Amino acid sequence: MKAVIVRTIGSFEYIDTPVPQPAQGEVLVHVAVAGLCRTDIKLIDVGHRDLTLPRIPAEEVVGNVTALGSGVDPAWLNKRVYVYPGTSCGTCRPCRQGAGNLCRSMQIMGFHRDGGFAEYACAPVDSLIEIPNACDFDLAVTAEPLSCCLNALELAQLKAAERLGIWGGGPAGAFLSRAALAMRASPTIFEPNPHRRNMLEAEEQVQPDHPFDVAVVAVGSTEAYHEALAHLAPRGRLVLFSGLSPTETLQSVDFNALHYHEQTLVGAYGCSYRHGEQALDWISSGKVKVDDLISHRMPLSQLNEAIKLVRNQQCMKILLYPES
Ligand SMILES: [Zn+2]
Repeated sequence: MKAVIVRTIGSFEYIDTPVPQPAQGEVLVHVAVAGLCRTDIKLIDVGHRDLTLPRIPAEEVVGNVTALGSGVDPAWLNKRVYVYPGTSCGTCRPCRQGAGNLCRSMQIMGFHRDGGFAEYACAPVDSLIEIPNACDFDLAVTAEPLSCCLNALELAQLKAAERLGIWGGGPAGAFLSRAALAMRASPTIFEPNPHRRNMLEAEEQVQPDHPFDVAVVAVGSTEAYHEALAHLAPRGRLVLFSGLSPTETLQSVDFNALHYHEQTLVGAYGCSYRHGEQALDWISSGKVKVDDLISHRMPLSQLNEAIKLVRNQQCMKILLYPES
């Protein structure tokens, strides 16, 4: 099969490699489409806390189940599935508290084990979510980025009619906005790049002129973090959604301001299985609109061109199709 593989940090290769065999409790998924995530590019460029090499990246994966490992219910064969990218133990304290994404022995597709930039990928049967018939693969694959937004907004306890400020109008910011609209909150995206702003809907962009109940930083910029904090309302929650480069993580925060205004800092990273179920349900039912956020559909062999589009911010969501 054709696949993209990262052997050393800083580069990737498009190669021929054997189709993997599903182990006990796993299935083989014929990948229909994989989403390109900024994290995939970060992983190739500079590595990642959770990465082991060599690795086939991609954690946004949907496809058909074409083979079963031992012990897997035969009913899964030929099912259309979304693959929740994490594997959690289910028994540690975070798992028992419903935060499988913080599992002490978390294994992530595309990081600890091979992901979807390939014709086939193995996945634990416990990580599969069946895609409703009414939902096509291109929409279903966006359940992964949407899941991470649902986790963040859940942690921030965003409520209907609350004002949400989103710093960064890339795919993550756009998905956060759509999730907030589905929750009947009032989102505003701040994005300096005019080309990106043109890809967002008109109501999603104004200058910050009022405080926000929830502010989410969806761009790896310390300036954005400080600006978001400065626009937080009393009792506001600042969501630390986007990672920063390791040299920028220590920022000074006025704790007295948080104290007097009863404001909260909220960390958010990834998503749990149940967020995948919720995201897929919201996408397939039309509760959240995502189709217009898919800006490019490209063959996997053109990953290099796709990465250039992301680097130059000339795209929203890019979907990649493995070729045979
Ligand atoms: Zn666990």
